[in-house]
Amino acid sequence: MIQFLPLAGANDSGINCFYLNIDGIGVILDSGVHPRKVGSESLPDFSKLEDKPIDYVFISHAHQDHIGSLPYLINKFPYLKIYMTPQTREISSLTLHSTVAILKEEIEETDLVQHYTHDEIDLLMRSVNESKYNEPFELTTLQNNKSITVEFFDAGHILGSAGILIEYQNKKIYYSGDTKLNSQYLLSGAKLPEKPVDVLLLESTYGSTDTKEIGTREEREKRFTDKANEVIGKGGSILIPVFSLGKTQELLKLVHDKMKSGKLTEVPIYTGGLGEKISRLYDSNRYLVNMIDPNFKITEIPREKLYEVSSFDLFRRKPSIVFASSGMILKKTASFVLAKYWFRQKDFAIFTVGYMDPDTPGYKISKSKKGDDLTLGNDDEVFNIKCEIENFRFTAHSHREELLDIAEKLKPGRIILFHGDDESVNWLGGNLLDRFKGVKVHTAENFKSIIF
Ligand SMILES: [Zn+2]
Ligand SMILES: [Zn+2]
Repeated sequence: MIQFLPLAGANDSGINCFYLNIDGIGVILDSGVHPRKVGSESLPDFSKLEDKPIDYVFISHAHQDHIGSLPYLINKFPYLKIYMTPQTREISSLTLHSTVAILKEEIEETDLVQHYTHDEIDLLMRSVNESKYNEPFELTTLQNNKSITVEFFDAGHILGSAGILIEYQNKKIYYSGDTKLNSQYLLSGAKLPEKPVDVLLLESTYGSTDTKEIGTREEREKRFTDKANEVIGKGGSILIPVFSLGKTQELLKLVHDKMKSGKLTEVPIYTGGLGEKISRLYDSNRYLVNMIDPNFKITEIPREKLYEVSSFDLFRRKPSIVFASSGMILKKTASFVLAKYWFRQKDFAIFTVGYMDPDTPGYKISKSKKGDDLTLGNDDEVFNIKCEIENFRFTAHSHREELLDIAEKLKPGRIILFHGDDESVNWLGGNLLDRFKGVKVHTAENFKSIIF
């Protein structure tokens, strides 16, 4: 008997944490936090695990919605064995350390949520077991002497991201994690298992997005460079709010390529913070993962340091492209501070480049245009927007057709959809049933078990 139980975030792109009971072997897939919620609301409900066997936790990648609650999970169940790719370990060591201070400042301690320290993160990272892509390993539990075989596959989403194949007595379960089937600008697309699987746990983030609305890659790039050239031509600067992990690196490569080929006017590029540290990890790992061009180094792209800028008026004197986190322009972050300056500049532009959670300032900004009055959050400050706002969708997730292609390749008898809204699940569910006769499709729902 296999039980699948979502511990949070089954039907939105919030928190990822799933429990599998494979005939008495307890496996946890990912242990994320909700990036826009705080305190216990941001965590999976680990109390649901108290009466169940748990042996292993496999982490698909280092985004906070997949790894952020690992310190709490391990605090509660210290004997759990943790597995992830070497790259995910390296990145999450950086990102978890960077959350220590934020946590202290913003979150009150409760029984459920306690602050962790740098020492605890060090200890946690030391206990992590690494597994490279395509190197299957066997795990046998002590209490019942049963075994599973596990293999990580490159998921093409960010550096170190993995799809996870679990095999138990000839039954194969594949967890997609977040995945991009086709290549991005740095990373080549996902490498899937060669053989069919029985059960596919499939992310469905882009299931609700009509790919025609996003346009082809060429259309997107052309609109991006045309618009950027126009802004730069008028003497304005461009702010691109980005996640420091993944989006920063991929878009740096795009901008660099377009400047090299003469399609985009060459101007200084500003970056900073965690994104810079993560770019260095992309470079140091470039021969170990599936990069499109392993010889290319992000850190060879000429970049200026954002934290050395003493006055933003510099961007009025010198048109520039500024990459700043956070991607959703959350309060107190660099992109938020810069956006407030940008609003006042008539020749400037803000380019949003990805998904915005509806509760974030980034969402409100992306829905606004030049001339609008905008309030952000609880205070009454009203911003009259003088700059332009352009929205682009560059994604590290598979488009809906790519998700169907994943199912085509893996030929599962059963598919469980997660990490998508209702609309995603409806569209994908319908199309999967149409295309693959006899397949069983489930929607993961929080705290509801699926037994098979
Ligand atoms: Zn992700
Ligand atoms: Zn995710």
